[in-house]
Amino acid sequence: MSEAPRPPEVDRLAASRKAVEARRARAGLKRDIAMRVVTPQSVLRRATADPRSAAGTLRVPEFLTAIPAIGAGKRDRILADLGISPVKRLGGLGGRQRDALRGWLDLRWPEPEPRPARSSLVVLAGPTAVGKGTVAAYIREHHPDVMLSVSATTRQPRPGEVDGKHYFFVDEAEFDRMVANGELLEWATVHGTHRYGTPRGPIDRAVAAGRPVLLEIDMQGAFQVRQSEPRASLVFLLPPSWDELVSRLVGRGTEDEEERARRLRTARDELAAQGEFDFRVVNEDVPTAAQQVVDLMQASAR
Ligand code: 5GP
Repeated sequence: MSEAPRPPEVDRLAASRKAVEARRARAGLKRDIAMRVVTPQSVLRRATADPRSAAGTLRVPEFLTAIPAIGAGKRDRILADLGISPVKRLGGLGGRQRDALRGWLDLRWPEPEPRPARSSLVVLAGPTAVGKGTVAAYIREHHPDVMLSVSATTRQPRPGEVDGKHYFFVDEAEFDRMVANGELLEWATVHGTHRYGTPRGPIDRAVAAGRPVLLEIDMQGAFQVRQSEPRASLVFLLPPSWDELVSRLVGRGTEDEEERARRLRTARDELAAQGEFDFRVVNEDVPTAAQQVVDLMQASAR
């Protein structure tokens, strides 16, 4: 009997390249779970829809330890309780095991439910470098019906920025005056340097007229708006993946190691706060994300 023919060299190379890519995709997915860019339930859904995907080929024990607060001991107890063998991959679970795993996840880490919009005032926030500014600029360009709030700031204009369009550029004394007069709906010191605030008057007028209003502000500001305007909807913009956020954050290469580490820590903490928001939108591509935000405003204006 002759030996089975060996696959040609090119096929073997392609196969090993594919295996490396698949491993990399699974590692990326585990980081997304760890950093809360995706929910464990959404990974399970992907695995069910496509058992050959990165989610589908992820081993269940690895999936579990990627979830924050699950270590090796807890992982083993969960596997035993749910009767899942440690060699199982997520996409290879039987219906009953999958339901048991989903039920367990829903109990421990309930997925945030979108809360219905109650007013046409929408706040867009999210982690540093996720692209809020780009999404807001796209809305300004393509949806003139939406009023984009113009913030006051004490920072200097950048090249191309127009006073009254991008920001109202004010000095410290003027900002103090606005705060003292209660002219700002919210304000915050951002990145520990300059102050930014949302002028209240134009927003009150637009909301009274039923016009959709969008605020693109930082997370501290978003929570302040909720306090003074409980009907406002808070939208959290998510990156398509943790790796993508990291490359947007550090990609510019202008910060030193310490600053980069600080920004990554901030981004992780910001992602951990997403449960406080009413909606989540993934910034996979800007026009789609912008459309989702606009749809939300229109739904609530009805
Ligand atoms: P930049 O200086 O790059 O334009 O903005 C820096 C940060 O300030 C961004 O995260 C932006 O969301 C935030 N920001 C802009 N305007 C306001 C505002 O009126 N209030 C608050 N709290 N943050 C703002």
